[in-house]
Amino acid sequence: MGKDLIGLVGLDEIFENVYQRGEEADELLKQKLLDETKKHNYIPKGIEKKYEDALLREYKSFCESKESGEKVKEKDQEETYQGVPREAIPWFPTVYEEKCNGCKECYDMCPTRVFIWDEESKKPKAAYPLRCVVGCSGCAQICKPKAINFPQKSIVNNILKRR
Ligand code: SF4
Ligand code: SF4
Repeated sequence: MGKDLIGLVGLDEIFENVYQRGEEADELLKQKLLDETKKHNYIPKGIEKKYEDALLREYKSFCESKESGEKVKEKDQEETYQGVPREAIPWFPTVYEEKCNGCKECYDMCPTRVFIWDEESKKPKAAYPLRCVVGCSGCAQICKPKAINFPQKSIVNNILKRR
């Protein structure tokens, strides 16, 4: 974190939301980043420009580390599960939006970042299903309104038996 930005509240979440929306890290984004940051922090008027530059610089380095992390994850997905290509195993969560109350617990708890958070609907989306750990159903278990569904484990077992 750049030294000008140490102590600012909510930066990671702001960066994550912008990243998920796929916005370009360009000059136009500077003002947006500053506006978002000001919702949670006091920034004196005289040094706003300095903060805009620092925020954009920091956001670019956030994107670089995300992208290198994504590459590692994509490589992981090429791997197999018990000899079967991961993409051949239909094990991932399905979110029923009509049941979801937007508590965000699944998004926060998933260790492999299967979900993204859709700011418009205020609901999770399982955007990276192949990151889901085969056999895990932790998010479904903590979801109080039972809005997350998984296939029957027998479907996975049958696929594994046929290998
Ligand atoms: S845990 Fe369930 S209710 Fe909460 S955001 Fe996730 S899907 Fe929605
Ligand atoms: S089952 Fe586990 S790994 Fe898969 S999405 Fe839910 S919490 Fe993440």
